[in-house]
Formats: sequence, C-alpha cells, structure tokens
Amino acid sequence: MVIVFANQKGGVGKTTSAVNIAAGIGLCGKKTLLVDADPQCNASSGVGVLRRRVKSSVYDVLIGRADVRSAVVATGYKNLDLLPSSASLAGAEFELADLDRRERRLADAIDAIKGEYDYIIIDCPPSLGLLTVNALVAGDGVVIPMQCEYFALEGLSQITQTVAKVRKLYNPSLLLSGIIFTMYNGRLNLSLQIVDEIKKYYGDKILLPPVPRSVRISEAPSHGKPIQYYDRLSKAAEAYDLLAKEIMKL
Ligand code: ADP
Ligand code: MG
Repeated sequence: MVIVFANQKGGVGKTTSAVNIAAGIGLCGKKTLLVDADPQCNASSGVGVLRRRVKSSVYDVLIGRADVRSAVVATGYKNLDLLPSSASLAGAEFELADLDRRERRLADAIDAIKGEYDYIIIDCPPSLGLLTVNALVAGDGVVIPMQCEYFALEGLSQITQTVAKVRKLYNPSLLLSGIIFTMYNGRLNLSLQIVDEIKKYYGDKILLPPVPRSVRISEAPSHGKPIQYYDRLSKAAEAYDLLAKEIMKL
C-alpha cells in the first residue's frame, strides 16, 4: 500500500508526519519504505540519512539514471528503508517536463519494488507541481496533514481538487485516505473551531488523534531520529503510533 503525504502549504507537518508514521508502521512489524520526494531532503535527514551518504537519490531514479533498488538505503530503524532525496531534485520539475511518462515516472519506479514492502510512505514538497503529481499517481491513498489555522479549509479544497484531477487523468484508484491535524493545541479556541469546521465537510476522513504541539517533535529531526526513538514516552510519539495504526487499518 502506497500512502502519499501531501499539502501544497509548507510547514504544516507533512515531513514530520511521514517520518514518524513510517517509523511507527515499521515498529508494528511491517516492512516500510519512506520515499523523500522533496528537494529539501528533510525526510532523509529526519531518519538520519545525510547528503554525503547518498550516492543515488530519487532524482536519479526519476530521470532514469539509477535503478530504484540501488538508490534505497537502510535507515537503522526497525523495518524502515529510505529512498533518499537530493538537492538536484529541485530541477526535476523542469527536467521531467520533457521526458515521456513524465507523470508516471515515480509510479513506474515504485511498481518495481512494491512487492518488497508492506507500506510505502511518500513525503511531498510544498507545491502541487510535477513531483507531487508523480507521488499522487504512484499512490493508493493520500493523507493530508494540516495545521489548525485560519486558512486551512481553503488550502484543503486546493489539494482535494488536485487529488480529484489526478484520479480522473492518471490514477482512478487513488483515495483520499484522511486528514491529520498537526501542531494541535486543544486549549486554543481557534484550533477547536477549525476542527469543527473541517468535521462538517470531511468528518469521516479525519484520522485521530490530533498530534499535539511538542518541543520534542521539533527537536527530533536534528538528531536524525523519528520521535519514537527520540522520546518514546512523549505524547507526540503516542499520537503518531496511534495514527500509524489507523493508517494500517485503511
Ligand atoms: P512540512 O513538511 O509540511 O513543510 P514539517 O513537518 O517540516 O512541515 O514541519 C514544519 C516545522 O514544524 C518543523 O520545524 C517541525 O519540526 C515542526 N513541527 C511539526 N510538527 C510539530 C509538532 N507536533 N509540534 C511542534 N513542532 C512541530
Ligand atoms: Mg516537508
């Protein structure tokens, strides 16, 4: 099962959610591949894979310069492999435009190794360009991480429209798997209001629990560790473990 973490807004918790849910699924005994499709490489560094260790990246795979198997690396975390990113991926939106099957290149690569994993989690860049489209074409389901802030609902309609378009044009089986609330503060009236508003429109799509705002979560990436390995007993680790289990029920 391939799950894509997408939202065109930056800083909403896509990478944090992709990394920690992938780690959570791995801890449940399922073989998991995390695919970093963002040139910022935050998912790669978030599981401790630094640039200098990366020989081939998802970029080389997309442009046909490397085989996907040769680009995948082990992370040292339980049942968790990584298809790393690299800064050169920033040029891919442009370079892919001239290649054939330009929307399906990540799907083609993932198809080749799908059988080796129980779950493949793709972290997208903060845009709805060709990289995110490639991820959506490769996906069985989309998870939209979002922050409970004022313009959240507006952003949500943009991404759901893109999902609908990709479903129609390239990937009829793509599902909207769910919405995750990140950096949640239940004491803020605004957070509560936004959650209520989203519930009205997408009630059955909300994946619980919300992830609380937590300093530990923001510290973990600089140690190259998913939250379960950085602070196993934190509330945030507990939330991501529960979300991993929800996603495994989809
Ligand atoms: P995106 O991938 O959507 O750009 P990130 O996952 O990188 O978003 O998160 C943006 C920033 O917010 C990062 O610095 C991250 O550490 C921080 N962050 C994410 N989730 C939480 C949380 N629950 N509590 C505190 N900080 C968080
Ligand atoms: Mg990110």
